[in-house]
Amino acid sequence: MPLNNSTSISSLKFDYDGVGDEMYHLAAELFPICRSITGNGFRQSLQIINKIIPLDVTEVPSGTHVFDWIVPKEWNVGDAYVKNSAGEKVIDIKHSNLHLLNYSIPVHEKFSLAELKEHLYSLPETPDWIPYRTSYYAEKWGFCLADRQLHSLAEGEYEVCIDSSLEPGYLTYGETVLAGETSDEVLISCHSCHPSLCNDNLSGMVLAAYLARYLKSIPHRYTYRFVYIPGTIGSITWLACNEDKVSRIKHGLVVTCVGDPGKSTYKKSRRGDAEIDRAVLQALKDSGQDFQVLDFSPYGYDERQYCSPGFNLAVGSLSRTPNGGYPEYHTSADNLELVKPIYLADSFAKYLSVIDILENNQVYLNLNPKCEPQLGKRGLYGTLGGRKEIKDFEFALLWVLNYSDGNYSLLDIAEKSGINFPVIKEAASALLTANLLSPL
Ligand code: ZN
Repeated sequence: MPLNNSTSISSLKFDYDGVGDEMYHLAAELFPICRSITGNGFRQSLQIINKIIPLDVTEVPSGTHVFDWIVPKEWNVGDAYVKNSAGEKVIDIKHSNLHLLNYSIPVHEKFSLAELKEHLYSLPETPDWIPYRTSYYAEKWGFCLADRQLHSLAEGEYEVCIDSSLEPGYLTYGETVLAGETSDEVLISCHSCHPSLCNDNLSGMVLAAYLARYLKSIPHRYTYRFVYIPGTIGSITWLACNEDKVSRIKHGLVVTCVGDPGKSTYKKSRRGDAEIDRAVLQALKDSGQDFQVLDFSPYGYDERQYCSPGFNLAVGSLSRTPNGGYPEYHTSADNLELVKPIYLADSFAKYLSVIDILENNQVYLNLNPKCEPQLGKRGLYGTLGGRKEIKDFEFALLWVLNYSDGNYSLLDIAEKSGINFPVIKEAASALLTANLLSPL
């Protein structure tokens, strides 16, 4: 995608509706799987992603020390239910895998209602939704259910069956690296450990998959690394296992919550003024849509680890409504109804805009710096009057020429001029063709 490549201007075209539908269908295929931070649900999900973009899978043994943490035991689950005294299943993982407290230890016992209730979780404020709860590092068991259902449970004896295993095994992660002209990398990271939750988790996974597939089909300057990891322990493990590669990461984004109707939100990297921060802000401004920008905070997703002070990578997070910001977050209502193909496609387009800026943000030198070159005789200026996009393009020619003194990149010029980056890029391309500009 560099400017001197013939694909530069048109390379970012894509079938907007088509990719939205494809991402949505992939999310629907992944939705029923009971994922966790380890185990077969995670592996099965990688196998499905692998159909879109081939992934290298790494298995890190339980007990491996990763900085201050230890890779936990592997968790797998078969059946899980609660039966009432009449033998009827009143809670059943087959209806929703959110019913089971994620990482529950195995249990097969009878309890009174009072005893059972100590292990039940519900959301009184949204009484029809099942909450999503986990207990990765404290060994316990539990069930999550709609508050309305909780209050309908009659007195009596209940049989609890959790056919799970928590044993030494592996933490699994997947990655794909798309080599570019340079070994400098752009990291795209998505947590992939949530069970049937669609916006938080699946939307990021499917966007990353289709972004990787798209980038695989076109030339690019940067090397792109896509990682599919369990949240928190996954990024810690990846960083611990790949510390020698970290210096290659020049820009990065954590992708999740990209399929809901909310406006785009960018959470800056800890550095705050890194090129990725500026590129995302420019892309969002160029979109012409409303958006919000948040400063870095050490709460959220895996940007917390990438931006920990010992790494301080230029990694931000581009989402729509961020974690915790929508009522359906971490409940059964974060489902295939909340996420829509059109929002996935819009997020996809914004990620591509960011990548377009990173790929094309170069410094050029004006080869005719003494006064303005005469653009009209080169067919670049004043040939068509009136239309706004023509005016923008002509202004962009002047801005690019004036600031291409070796000190300003195209992104600097877009910021200074207020002109959209694609127009600045197109102007630079035209000036290159007219031999008025050369790459520094
Ligand atoms: Zn989450």
